[in-house]
Amino acid sequence: MSDNHRKVIIIGSGPAGYTAALYTSRANLEPLVLEGHEPGGQLTTTTDVDNFPGFPEGIMGPELMSNMKKQTIRFGTEYKQTHVTDVDLDNRPFKVTTQNNDTYTADSLILATGASAKYLGLPNEKELIGKGVSACATCDGFFYRDKVVHVVGGGDTAMEEATFLTKFASKVYVVHRRDTLRASKPMQERAFKNDKIEFVWDSEVVEILAKDSGVHAIKVKNTSTGEVTERETDGLFMGIGHKPNTDFLKGKINTDEHGFIVTEGKHPDTNVPGVFACGDVQDSYYRQAISAAGSGCMAAMRAEKFLED
Ligand code: NDP
Repeated sequence: MSDNHRKVIIIGSGPAGYTAALYTSRANLEPLVLEGHEPGGQLTTTTDVDNFPGFPEGIMGPELMSNMKKQTIRFGTEYKQTHVTDVDLDNRPFKVTTQNNDTYTADSLILATGASAKYLGLPNEKELIGKGVSACATCDGFFYRDKVVHVVGGGDTAMEEATFLTKFASKVYVVHRRDTLRASKPMQERAFKNDKIEFVWDSEVVEILAKDSGVHAIKVKNTSTGEVTERETDGLFMGIGHKPNTDFLKGKINTDEHGFIVTEGKHPDTNVPGVFACGDVQDSYYRQAISAAGSGCMAAMRAEKFLED
C-alpha cells in the first residue's frame, strides 16, 4: 500500500471529527484527519461555551476545539488542512480526492463535515458574529438576558430559536419574508401563544447597524410596500436553516431531502459498509457540540469493529 493509504480517514474537524480521531488514535488505527478550510468547525466562530460539560467556568469555543485537537495529536493523529472534493465509495479501498488533486485511500471512512448555518449574505454579518449576530440560540441566548432580539426565518429552526430566546430576552421579534410560516403547526402554535414573541411579517432584513459595542439596530424592508424601517435590537439570530456539508457526497451515499446523511438505527453506520457519519452532517435535530462529540465516539468504535471484522 502507498504512503497515502490509511486504515481510517476522518473527513471534517469539529467536535465529532476530533472525538472520532481521539478514539481511533487511541485504538492504534493511526487516523488521518482531512480538516477542511475551517479547522475546528462552527465552534471556532463562537465565544463562550457554557454547555460543554467539564468546564465549570465555561470555555471559549476556539480554545475547546484547540484542546480537542491537541488531545488527539498526543495519540498520533495526523492532520492535513485540505478540502475534500470527491470520494469513490464504490471500490475498496475507498478513495478520497482533495482540492490539489491529492488522493488518499482508506479501509474505512468517518464523515464529520458538519453543517453550516445559513446567513443572509449581508456585508457585515460574519464580522458581527459574537457581537450581536448569531445562528445558535442555544449557544448564545444566555447573553441576551432582558435584551431585545430579532430572529430571521419562518421555519422550525426560527420558531425554536425564538421560543428558546424568550427564556432570556425581554422581547423577541420574528422577521419573516412572507405572511405565513413554514414551521410545523405545533411549533407555530407554541410561538403564537408566547407573549414575548411578536411577528414582523412580509419583511426582510436588509442592513445590520453596529457600533463598537456590537449590533444596535437592523433595517427591515417590507416586501409588499418596499418601505424600509429601522428597528432597535441587541441581537440578530439567523433561523433560516442549516446546510449540511455533503455536496461532495451527492449520489454516493444516502441522504435525506435536505442533504443530511442518513444513519441506520442507533448506530452511525451509513448505507455503505465501512463508511460512518457523525456530528451535524447527520443530525438536523440536536446540533450540539456534546452530541456531536458523542456520535464521533460511536463512529470511531463502529469503524474499529468494522476493521476488526
Ligand atoms: P426551513 O427550510 O424549513 O425554513 C427556513 C426558513 O427560513 C423559511 O421560513 C424560509 O422562508 C426562511 N428563509 C430561507 N432563506 C431565507 C433568506 N435568505 N432570507 C429570509 N428568510 C429565509 O429550515 P429549518 O432549519 O427551519 O428546518 C429544516 C428542517 O429541520 C425541517 O424539516 C424542520 O422541520 C427540521 N427542524 C425540526 C426541528 C424540531 O423538530 N425541533 C427544529 C429545527 C428544524 P420561506 O418560508 O419563505 O421559504
